[in-house]
Amino acid sequence: MKYRIALVPGDGIGPEVCGAAAEVVKAVSDSFEFNTYLAGGCALDKFGVPLPQETIDGCLASDSVLLGAVGGPKWDDVPNHMRPEKALLGLRKELGLYTNLRPASIQPALAEACVLRPDIAAKGFDLMIVRELTGGIYFGERGRNEAGDAAYDTEAYSVMEIERVARRAFETARKRGGHVTSVDKANVLETSRLWRETVHRLGESEYPDVRLDDMYVDNAAMQIIRDPSFFDVLVTSNMFGDILSDEASQVTGSIGLLASASLGDSSRGMYEPIHGSAPDIAGKDIANPIAAILSAAMMLRYSFDLSKEADAIEKAVTDVLTDGLRTADIKVPGQEDWIKGSEMKAAILKKLGRE
Ligand code: NAD
Repeated sequence: MKYRIALVPGDGIGPEVCGAAAEVVKAVSDSFEFNTYLAGGCALDKFGVPLPQETIDGCLASDSVLLGAVGGPKWDDVPNHMRPEKALLGLRKELGLYTNLRPASIQPALAEACVLRPDIAAKGFDLMIVRELTGGIYFGERGRNEAGDAAYDTEAYSVMEIERVARRAFETARKRGGHVTSVDKANVLETSRLWRETVHRLGESEYPDVRLDDMYVDNAAMQIIRDPSFFDVLVTSNMFGDILSDEASQVTGSIGLLASASLGDSSRGMYEPIHGSAPDIAGKDIANPIAAILSAAMMLRYSFDLSKEADAIEKAVTDVLTDGLRTADIKVPGQEDWIKGSEMKAAILKKLGRE
């Protein structure tokens, strides 16, 4: 029996990079079958909604979801509830995905693209941010007073919400460097004090083999710039994770390289590059497919426990970069001999033994 993958290419460069990722998965394993579903602006055009029921049903019937990106200027003026980005929130909700995993690492071959001090960049880093995705201040009660001159947003977390994301962080650390840093603002916020207590209780009772420490979010933001090699796995709330994961991705130098996973209780996840639909370069064969390809590698590792195949894809990516191959987004200033997105995909497939 084959595993079923729902491909949701979306808009802009989504179909280019998602297609490349699917080809790479096929190159390392014949255990998968793919079905394609529409979401985002393309679904709005065809079905009048950004997330058709057919797409929800198809994803729910699949073993995992590989997504490209959604959105673009064509749909900028549609009513808020019809915006293409609503498809992402809808899919997360329908699939019960409450944890976001975002790795950020610096490939030695790309150290020159890293914005950190050269001696720090040369040390390299490889961290994973585990962010709570469906709670906290983004989903809490909010409002304004009658005069409209004061507003509030509410941060709220339950022990259950903290435990389930912390468990994912500890499990992830066991597959990596065995170190979790819990990020909070426990010197000020009551939710952070509950967060810290809960993470420690879980760590001590279920994961004594994983090293656990705490860091205030302001210190963590500084540490990512000062020396990110301190970190292995960071676990944090929705808003702190949103900010820190963007910061961590920027220090690596290119948005075209970074993958992400959204996970829930089951092995099914939704895997997608962190970049958007890049309408400025869509259809020009310029988009770097690596972020989508590395998202597919995450899918093999986290949804299907196919570590050997995931390692092979990650090694193929490292090898093409070490060979000096560069798409436009990761070329050094002045470099003339950059390659197209399809050529990058072909080079990765070649490393995997597929011409
Ligand atoms: P973006 O990530 O699409 O693009 C930012 C810049 O990075 C652009 O210059 C783009 O050309 C470049 N870029 C992005 N991916 C690249 C790749 N793989 N290779 C080479 N260059 C790449 O962000 P944006 O321009 O702010 O947003 C464009 C659209 O995407 C908007 O409609 C936005 O809402 C949507 N968006 C979607 C997602 C998602 O689907 N998860 C995430 C962010 C933005």
